[in-house]
Amino acid sequence: MTSFHTRRALVHDASLPPYRRHSALRTCLTLFAPYGLRATYHHLTVSARMPRLLEADPESLVRAVDELHEARELQRARAEEYAERRRAEKRAGRRRPTDTPWWNRPWRNPPDSAWQHDPFLHPPLRLPDYVRRQHALLDGVELPGCPACGEEGPAVSLSTGHGHAELCRCCAWVLTPCDCGRWHSFEPALRVGWSRTWQREHMTGTGEPSPHWPGVRGTARVERLESYTVDWESRVVRRDGDQ
Ligand SMILES: [Zn+2]
Ligand SMILES: [Zn+2]
Repeated sequence: MTSFHTRRALVHDASLPPYRRHSALRTCLTLFAPYGLRATYHHLTVSARMPRLLEADPESLVRAVDELHEARELQRARAEEYAERRRAEKRAGRRRPTDTPWWNRPWRNPPDSAWQHDPFLHPPLRLPDYVRRQHALLDGVELPGCPACGEEGPAVSLSTGHGHAELCRCCAWVLTPCDCGRWHSFEPALRVGWSRTWQREHMTGTGEPSPHWPGVRGTARVERLESYTVDWESRVVRRDGDQ
């Protein structure tokens, strides 16, 4: 059994205390997290209705890990197909891949940079739906709206100090990067502490999103992101407004 399956079995094990099952869910997320670890965890707390105190509904952990598992199975099947096709292409003498699958997204200028820095920003899709959408795009299907979430409303334009980038108003995916060629990262000025998210301060005791925290959500949250320039070599990050 793979590590993911072993850990998933622990999440399912009702004889274990909820904190152990929760910790096993975290390990599963280190192995597969389509929105990045923190944003995927945040997504699952909301979609699986994980309450502030896990004892109130330990089975929410099962709903969470099963949604993750369903998405992972879809991605794994696709990754196997892709690897098979690449082997055939290499045998035919084509060394460079003709396309880049979404799970091999570049680490420079990633269009989902905001998701890495703000766990509250990510597509509102269930994880299997997000994976299916990415696979359809990989197949060349023309889908309207933001590639990540399908939002068709006007983009949010953010200043990079010397230019602009256009971000999805729903999930903060970079639709049009700044044309300077430098690496920009879009991050909230006020960092969201991971421990607050991990402890589900954004959820109520009954597994509903808290009406009190965080205060700013949706498009207003995207509009508050700030642009930072990342130095290619040193990986030093500098706020663009400070130039
Ligand atoms: Zn989007
Ligand atoms: Zn720029």
